[in-house]
Amino acid sequence: MLLTITTRSKPAGNLSFLLHKHPNKLQSFDLSIGKAHVYYPESSDEKTSCALLLDIDPIDMVRGTRSSGGFSLSQYVNDRPYVAASFMSVAIAKAFSTAMNGTCKNKPELVDVPMDLEAQITVVAAPKGGERLIRTLFKPLGYKIELERHILDEQFPDWGESKYFTLNLKHTIPLQTLLTHLYVLLPALDNEKHYYVSKSEVDKLLDKGKGWLADHPAREQIVNRYLINLRSFSRVAIERLDEEVVHESDEKAEEEGPVIEKKKESLHQRRLKLVLAKLKESGASSVIDMGCGEGKLLKMLLKERQFRKITGTDVSYSELAKAKSKLHWDDLAPKQKERLDLFQGALTYKDKRLAGYDGAAIVEVIEHLDEDRLTSFERVIFEFAKPKQVIITTPNSDYNVLYENMEAGDMRHNDHRFEWSRKEFKAWAEAVANRNNYSVEILPIGDTDENVGAPSQMGIFKYGN
Ligand code: SAH
Repeated sequence: MLLTITTRSKPAGNLSFLLHKHPNKLQSFDLSIGKAHVYYPESSDEKTSCALLLDIDPIDMVRGTRSSGGFSLSQYVNDRPYVAASFMSVAIAKAFSTAMNGTCKNKPELVDVPMDLEAQITVVAAPKGGERLIRTLFKPLGYKIELERHILDEQFPDWGESKYFTLNLKHTIPLQTLLTHLYVLLPALDNEKHYYVSKSEVDKLLDKGKGWLADHPAREQIVNRYLINLRSFSRVAIERLDEEVVHESDEKAEEEGPVIEKKKESLHQRRLKLVLAKLKESGASSVIDMGCGEGKLLKMLLKERQFRKITGTDVSYSELAKAKSKLHWDDLAPKQKERLDLFQGALTYKDKRLAGYDGAAIVEVIEHLDEDRLTSFERVIFEFAKPKQVIITTPNSDYNVLYENMEAGDMRHNDHRFEWSRKEFKAWAEAVANRNNYSVEILPIGDTDENVGAPSQMGIFKYGN
């Protein structure tokens, strides 16, 4: 894989000072997984190009992995030697560390100067979702982006397009900025990091992302992907980025008057808020959260005086124990405790304790039931428990094509037994309503895409009309 950085800002030879690499020399660096070579295909005052060629040894790569043992052919047959991703970041850090840290011994005045820069990377892999993710990551930073998609095999054009692209980026920025962008964003395109992600990765990410990552509209996606979705680390990183934004906006506030910071809500928060709003709107005073999990909705319900009786139930004892601790059950004031009840139970068995409520919420639960248990579920809820209003939410599988790390047919969670399209959910919900003397209204949850709808969907069932 190859990264070339070119400038036409005169005198273009400044590039070699900034990179601390002599234009007439080939320099090579040892990496744990192969070698990186730096050389200049072109060097004049009009135009200078520096190339970083990464030559990965697939055998070194396998030796270096913390394999869990057992033979896996995928360790040997994969695209990693050819795709610029996390290995390219390692090479950039090794070969261009001085430039990336903003040091230039001979011409320090150049460090902050914007130059016309062009970076070409051959090749990057676009995970599912195609070029979309690449654009999402680079576009907000002001790059002019060109992508050339490669076909799978020139000998067999019928095989069609591959997921590999040559990426060309143009921008007028300091070299240091370009390098930090590549350092963070190339691994963020990578679905499989080659190295163990430790806490020091958070520091590296925040250090290299300083000054741009906090304001990037896709910052959560970048952080999650860079830290390969290790949520606990991602949360630490996002919290620290928030501090950066808050401090910056405080400073701006002093100059420009108050700035209102709005933190982006997660899909789940939006979902729960909508459920809460609908329960409130119905005028319910007793509500039951069926499949309450760790009790996020219960916590929100407790804050609303309207709800005089609030119950949470789940099939899982450990989820209920978590809910109890998150709701600070033991420290609740007696009056609050009186309002709240938790019990263990399944939604597929007739149960008196489920009856007699004004409102029921069943949030992201039905997709955890085997499809052949849905008839029992329907009878338990709509025939026996019979709340005046039932709110059911479930993912919209039409939307899955937009999740770049999902393959066709994948589900969002490994315990999901099915995920329904909008059409499937509507058909099921209407049939359930008809059979049980309920009416139903279907609503989207989250931002709606014109072709595939919103990420999640909600059915609001009302008894008797
Ligand atoms: N409603 C919560 C949790 C959703 S996760 C939230 O939105 O945050 C799905 C939950 O459904 C899990 O807690 C799981 O234990 C519960 N569940 C799965 N099958 C169930 C069943 N048959 N009866 C009751 N709860 C069930």
